[in-house]
Amino acid sequence: MSKKIYIFANESESSAYTEKQLRKKLDKSGYTIYSEYSDDVDLLVCIGGDGTFLEAMHRFNFPSMPIIGINTGHLGMFQEISPYMLDDFIFNYSQEKYALQKLSTVCMKVKTTDGRVHEHLGINEVLIKASATYSVHLNISIDGSFIERFSGDGVLIATPAGSTAYNYSLGGSVVDPRLEILQVTPISPMNTTAYRSFTSSILLPSDLSLQIMPDMYERKSTLRVVYDGFHVEYDDVEEIEVGFSDVSVNLMRFENYDFWRKVKSKFL
Ligand code: NAP
Ligand code: MN
Repeated sequence: MSKKIYIFANESESSAYTEKQLRKKLDKSGYTIYSEYSDDVDLLVCIGGDGTFLEAMHRFNFPSMPIIGINTGHLGMFQEISPYMLDDFIFNYSQEKYALQKLSTVCMKVKTTDGRVHEHLGINEVLIKASATYSVHLNISIDGSFIERFSGDGVLIATPAGSTAYNYSLGGSVVDPRLEILQVTPISPMNTTAYRSFTSSILLPSDLSLQIMPDMYERKSTLRVVYDGFHVEYDDVEEIEVGFSDVSVNLMRFENYDFWRKVKSKFL
């Protein structure tokens, strides 16, 4: 039976052109291209940049089929191929010459004072900050034991995949994706006698979770939670729990994929 493929592309001209070329080539090779997304497609193609990939993951609710990214964006850490590599890609795919790289997600559960729990997942990261330009005041515990009183712009919790994104701009470390860890990175921490927190990132194993409670002072203010660039505001947060989630997605990688070579080519 012929494989079913769905193509998701951003609005740019080069993405539209790449999509057109790809459709022609896949059609010629006998693949079925769906005009609408369905969970039963065998392959999801994302044409664009990292932002486009993140958008697709949230829109399609972190699907389980293999995903291939074609980079027409700026950076393209999630993308495996460039538009000139379409023939190679179709050849490798048809020969099943690929590996799947599992990307774990970080999960944030926001408990509000009305007793409800709101869940948000991030492929790159989740973060908590104030809704306006104020600083936030947060009591942070690791696995249930109190660790620090944070004051500053916010706290970011990155997956290994997200370590090269916002986390990196904040002075966080680049993490090899083979490590299952969460990186907790402060955003402009203020260290005074009133509030004291780590000024560097801390690393947590995948089975530990983090509890973040707004300080008494913060109870009346609005917190903004951000996940992969999307955001929601809550003005009645009781506690936020952050940990690894069971949800993951599978990126297609070809024979010559090497994480550190990719990082070097994009950053150094
Ligand atoms: P955006 O504001 O349009 O672009 C953010 C930049 O981050 C883009 O260049 C994007 O690459 C790149 N990026 C995304 N994921 C990455 C990753 N895993 N490793 C390295 N770079 C990555 O937002 P967007 O495109 O929708 O992406 C959302 C992400 O932006 C968030 O998850 C957050 O990590 C990041 N962000 C970074 C900062 C900062 O560094 N100061 C501030 C806000 C948000 P493409 O060009 O390929 O899209
Ligand atoms: Mn972008």
